[in-house]
Amino acid sequence: MQYNKTQYKLWRWWHPMVLHWIINPGLAINELIFGQRVPRITLVEKNTKKTLGERTYIPCPHCNTLHPGMKWSGQNKTAMQNWFGLYCDHCGKIIPCLINLTTLVILIVTAPIWYWFKESMKRKWLAQQPARYKNLVLNDDSNAFAGYGWIKEGLSFGFFMFFVMTIIIRPLVMQEPITGPSILSGLIAWPLGGLSYGYLMKRFTRVTKQSQYK
Ligand SMILES: [Zn+2]
Repeated sequence: MQYNKTQYKLWRWWHPMVLHWIINPGLAINELIFGQRVPRITLVEKNTKKTLGERTYIPCPHCNTLHPGMKWSGQNKTAMQNWFGLYCDHCGKIIPCLINLTTLVILIVTAPIWYWFKESMKRKWLAQQPARYKNLVLNDDSNAFAGYGWIKEGLSFGFFMFFVMTIIIRPLVMQEPITGPSILSGLIAWPLGGLSYGYLMKRFTRVTKQSQYK
């Protein structure tokens, strides 16, 4: 991967944001259900006073286009539904993404179910992509994690995960009964995990100009 080392910093696998994406089991829900993906290569522009969101670039390895990271955002409705990866609206190919370890295990175990439909699903998904990338807005105003937003986002994610994992998955899928201690440990662990997720999102995706350059 060729890039200008004096202008950009490359986030490698040991970057906390990247590592967290791979390890946190809860993020398998984001990947599999919501289709939220993180590209394998993220470049961050050095030495500018822009916000981190504005300094983030995602290179397409197929056509070498350097996409502004804000192309994939909540306000563009392109942050989710990226199950097959990030779509390059320049060459029409897919920018490779990281994969969460839990997602990987779930995909391997369930492969006999989805394997036969993968190509047709991917074709259908690809055909839908160009329409999603018309009329993009590239600014950094819609950060749900800014200010104290990370607490709200983190806690709602944590409680959602508590409900899904402790109340649904463990009793129904893993046949573990719901007990006082299981509820208590879930109520502590998931919101804490959610908060750490929210904080990392605030810290590493889009920080406001004021907080970053104080
Ligand atoms: Zn491309």
